[in-house]
Order: sequence, then C-alpha cells, then structure tokens
Amino acid sequence: MDSLDRFAAQKLEELEAAHLRRRLVPTAREDGVHVLREGRRLISFACNDYLGLSHHPKVKAAAVRAIERYGTGAGASRLVTGDCPLLEELEERLARFKGSEAAIVFGSGYLANAGIVPTLAGEGDLILIDELAHACLFAGAQLSPARTLRFRHNDVAHAAELLEAHRGGARRALMLTDGVFSMDGDLAPLAGLAALCAAHDAWLMSDDAHGLGVLAQGRGSAALAGCAPPLQMGTLSKAGGGYGGYLAASHPVVELLRARARTFVYSTGLPPANAAAALAALEIIESEPELTARPLARAHDFCEALGLPAPHSPIVPLVLGAPQAALDASARLKEAGFLVVAIRPPTVPEGTARLRFAFSALHGEDDVARLARAVAEIGRAA
Ligand SMILES: *Cc1c(COP(=O)(O)O)cnc(C)c1O
Repeated sequence: MDSLDRFAAQKLEELEAAHLRRRLVPTAREDGVHVLREGRRLISFACNDYLGLSHHPKVKAAAVRAIERYGTGAGASRLVTGDCPLLEELEERLARFKGSEAAIVFGSGYLANAGIVPTLAGEGDLILIDELAHACLFAGAQLSPARTLRFRHNDVAHAAELLEAHRGGARRALMLTDGVFSMDGDLAPLAGLAALCAAHDAWLMSDDAHGLGVLAQGRGSAALAGCAPPLQMGTLSKAGGGYGGYLAASHPVVELLRARARTFVYSTGLPPANAAAALAALEIIESEPELTARPLARAHDFCEALGLPAPHSPIVPLVLGAPQAALDASARLKEAGFLVVAIRPPTVPEGTARLRFAFSALHGEDDVARLARAVAEIGRAA
C-alpha cells in the first residue's frame, strides 16, 4: 500500500474505533415521508423536506417543464451563459417573499455561505459566530483572513462582550448565526443580536435553512423574531424540497456578490429544473399557511407525548451522549419501522450524540403517536 492509502486506512480505523465512521446507505424516497432502505419501508423522521414538496405534483411538473424547455444543466457560470431566465424570476420572488430589495441564488446553501462570508469580511475585519452555527458558516469564515471569534450559543451578552473588546480594532464586523439551529432546533435571539449589531455597526447574517417554509407562515426565523437582518441567507433544499442556496439583501450587496463571490463567479449556475421547482415551491409556501404550520404542530404533539420541552421548530433533538448510544437507539427505531438518524461529533459537540427528529407536514398524527411510543419504549429498556 502506498502512503496515501495507508493514511486513509488509518484515519478510517480511528473513526471506526470511536464509532464515528460514516457510511452511505442507499435510500429511495418514495414520497415526502416513506423511504425504502435495506429492503424495508420506513417512515422517515430524518428528512428536511418539511412540507413534502420534493414530491409535490406541481413542483415536479414545473421541474419537468423546465428541463423540456431549457435542458438539464445551466451550461456555465451565470456570468457566462448560465443565467437561465428562471433564475432572475426566482431571485425576484425570493426578494419579495423575504421583504428585501434583492436576492442572489447560489448552487447550494453551503456554496452560498462559502461565497458570501469571505466577500464581505477580509483582512483586518472581525467575524463573530455562534459556536453552534452550521459547518458551512464556519467554512465561510475559514475562507476569510478576518479574525474569527466564537460567542457562546445564543448568548447575546457574550457577543456584546466580544464586540466591546474587539470591534474597535477591526475595520468591519460580520456576525453569523443560524436562525434555527440545525441539530438542536432552537432559535437564535435574532432581535437581540440585531440590536447589538446595530449599536456596534456590525452586519448580521442569519442562516434560515430550517426556517423558510415552516416558521411565521413560511417566512422564516427573522420574520418570526420581528426583525430583518441585512443579510438573510437560506436554502431551497429543505422545506423548498429541491436544491439551491440564496441570500436576500440590499441591491448593492447583491450586486457585489454577483461580481465577487467566488462560489458564484466560478461555479456553474443552478440547473433550470431546480429554479423552476423552487418557484413552484415558493408559490405553495406562500399560498398554504396551514401546510407551513403543520411540521411544528407535529413536533409539538411528539414533545407533549414524551414530556419534552415544547419545540421551537420542527427539529427535536434527544441527546443521548455517547455515539454508540445514539447508533443503538437509531437501530432500535429502525426495527420499529422509523428512520431516525443518529447525529454524532463533529456535527455536534463531544458528549452530545443524539437522535434528531425532523417532523413533516405529511406525517400523520398516528405516525407521530406511534413514534413517541417507540421512543418511550427504548427509554424504558435503557
Ligand atoms: C443544510 C444547511 C445548510 C446547507 O444548505 P444546502 O443547500 O444543503 O447546501 C446551510 N445552513 C444550515 C443551517 C443548514 O442546516
């Protein structure tokens, strides 16, 4: 074996020993909630497709029409020949929905964050980031030479301390947080952070990946908090049911990103089918408030049945501690017919491996009740 393979094999062994190896499991999603995995049909509580829009007939039909008209790929970066007319329509629609002047669409949420952050913060600047923010916000910060400081999770006072101590020495300051935290389901104190940022001339960016479509009649976490951060990023790949990332912001900010964000300039445009699917998904989100309220209602039912604290989003964590405990619980739930993933470090902090339940508008009340019984059963056995 050469040194490269030895390196890879040894790393894998270390991961295996710590129960942190990850493997792909082919999974056919039949509709918004049922999946076929290893020969079994399971009800998924593991998808972020909160409204089942990935399989909605109108969304699928829009994607098919776009493929027939524009083909399967964008063909190039949007600045070259990849700026399919559907993308402009999508950006206008996103801006209207988010109440911003403009919006820019990226290939994915990850690419959005990896492009936005280093474009807005550079040498001599300061980035403040919630310690539990999504990996791709950290990836964006790592691509910037700005000084990056973490503030304690959802701790406005700590963020204030850091700004007071370090804002003066920096040219510009950018603050990054999830609006809904992807592995805990809790909400950022966006109103408090926005006021703090305003007082220190810092720019707040909220990542609404898990808020769009499910909070505040689908408008997301900032709308729920009653504030409008100048930088509202999100993804079309969760409740949107498709793929693609976006930022809603002012005209000048969006124009700057179009000219300078490397993941926009040097990456192929979003495929036309994804733009069309997102437009159809937004149409449904805007016109069906009852649908957008359902995932959180299901999460409430689940928490109530198990005596857990009331949820703030359709994401409910059950922290078990050790990676193996989370893997075992996930395996037990699979035997009972439920797909619930075990989330382990480094996705979550050491010692907080967990089951992560994600609720969908398509889950029946009976599905949720049966899941709660199965979880209680495991708790009793443990
Ligand atoms: C999933 C997620 C992303 C990445 O979005 P993709 O479109 O899947 O790349 C970004 N931020 C948060 C908080 C997420 O949960």
